[in-house]
Amino acid sequence: MNKKLKEAYNPERFQDVGNQLVEILSSYLKSCFTNEDKKVIKWQSQENQLNYWKVYQNNDPIKFFSDILENSIHLHNPKYMGHQVVPPLPIASLASFLGSMLNNGMATYDSGPASTSIEKSIIEIFNKEIGFDSESDGFLTSGGTIASLTALLCARQTKSDKDIWDKGLDENLAIMVSDEAHYSIDRAVRIMGFGSKGIIKIPVDRNYMMNTDLLEEYYQDSKNRGIKVIAVVGSAPSTSTGVYDNLSKIGDFCKENDLWFHVDGAHGGAAIFSKKYKYLLSGIEKADSIIIDAHKMLLTPSLTTVLLFKDGNNSYSTFRQKAQFLWDYSHEMEWYNSAQRTIECTKYMMSIRLFSIFQFHGKSIFDDYVTTMYDLAKVFSILLKNDPNFEIAIEPVSNIVCLRYILRNLSKSKISELNENIRKKIIEDGEFHIVETILNNETYLRTTLMNPFTEKKHLLQLINKIKEFA
Ligand SMILES: *Cc1c(COP(=O)(O)O)cnc(C)c1O
Repeated sequence: MNKKLKEAYNPERFQDVGNQLVEILSSYLKSCFTNEDKKVIKWQSQENQLNYWKVYQNNDPIKFFSDILENSIHLHNPKYMGHQVVPPLPIASLASFLGSMLNNGMATYDSGPASTSIEKSIIEIFNKEIGFDSESDGFLTSGGTIASLTALLCARQTKSDKDIWDKGLDENLAIMVSDEAHYSIDRAVRIMGFGSKGIIKIPVDRNYMMNTDLLEEYYQDSKNRGIKVIAVVGSAPSTSTGVYDNLSKIGDFCKENDLWFHVDGAHGGAAIFSKKYKYLLSGIEKADSIIIDAHKMLLTPSLTTVLLFKDGNNSYSTFRQKAQFLWDYSHEMEWYNSAQRTIECTKYMMSIRLFSIFQFHGKSIFDDYVTTMYDLAKVFSILLKNDPNFEIAIEPVSNIVCLRYILRNLSKSKISELNENIRKKIIEDGEFHIVETILNNETYLRTTLMNPFTEKKHLLQLINKIKEFA
């Protein structure tokens, strides 16, 4: 055997380096939870960071791992309140490590027997939780963007009379979605070839929810313009404000008009596990398809997305010619051959991450997590409302809180500018991590409370930091 290759696979060396890596990560975890002064991010400009890695040279794997750790953003730090990616549970990260080593391909049953079967059983848990019956089905995909694209391709195949998969697109199709929806929906529509006229944005009401009273009007207007609406997407919740659309109303509208109902629950579909907040998803059982990102609110490393179909048969039609679908191919509907239904051919064996959580912590940990984080947002909102220097965009309904620092006498545009500068300073300072968003043309600071170790005291510290920089 080639000597270099043989050495690269050396099991003893693997064990030695592996043990040390686990040690590094354990100290990282410990320091996140105990060292109050630790920064979330060691800020460097893009150029400096790039130059550092361009010339980087090092043949000590332990130093290599440590350097990456040091230059990355630390999601387990309780002052991380930025993007919607979760600090994963250690057991799920270990499962992820196992998956990276086993590297089962998942396209067909024989390329991943355990993980394929585990995936099927996990999908059943989710479908049951939603309230779908035994006709339902689904699978896991690499991220919410791909999941929504897959679901909408299925909607296109199901709701158009033509065989677009075979003949190409020669009609004007469209999807209706809230003005506040995640850009991945817009992107899916354009990938499907509907163009900009294929995305019909329904304005939101004062609470940033899709104004469902306008659905009929926009639907008729599209019809009059020769555009065939095939689906409506409900956001659960939308990304900027964390507000859930009225899924029940959208579901009824879809049913009346024979439209596909897709729920983008990438962020907040996880609330299905929360006894207290499940009500936000009321009506979700009316959906034809649903996505839930486990790497957002289900404590799982990225990418792991759950894609559910109310009628499992539909999930096999996405990548088929219509004729094929109508004729008999039921013998080809093989749940265990993943690539029949996914955009991905090879895909990571992501089911084992979620399975490890169900096995070792039980699904109740998702209730604990979602409920804790949504509750904390309400605590934060009270702190902000009690401070005359702050304003919140809207009362939080999930764990997303949009706020801004205000000064009387400052114009709206100056206040936006001030908050943009505050956010910039916070990022560069690195103690906290938050993001920003634009609502009604004004800039807000946006926090997503993702870390169960974040407490009221950290929120007060953030408030003080913002004041200091303001
Ligand atoms: C994050 C998000 C997405 C995109 O999901 P990815 O997993 O990042 O591809 C889609 N919709 C909403 C509402 C989201 O919050």
